[in-house]
Amino acid sequence: MKMRRKMREPRFCFQTRSDVDVLDDGYKWRKYGQKVVKNSLHPRSYYRCTHNNCRVKKRVERLSEDCRMVITTYEGRHTHSPSEPQNSSEHEYFNSF
Ligand SMILES: [Zn+2]
Repeated sequence: MKMRRKMREPRFCFQTRSDVDVLDDGYKWRKYGQKVVKNSLHPRSYYRCTHNNCRVKKRVERLSEDCRMVITTYEGRHTHSPSEPQNSSEHEYFNSF
């Protein structure tokens, strides 16, 4: 069997203790899928960045052992900066860590 491999997208995964499934990360996401997870009450949700020509995907699921924990997995890299809120200056969105 032959499998065509795409270019590897960088993945980034982290866990957060949160009540909301979708953390506000400054980007806009559209849900495009949901999957039932074995041995878990919580389905896994799939999101895609709504920006044109941006193919970043996000996967959100809750830890089956501890449903207060949210696991967020990003796949790919944004080709743009976070969506800026309207009526605000660019500088407000610039934060250095
Ligand atoms: Zn994006």
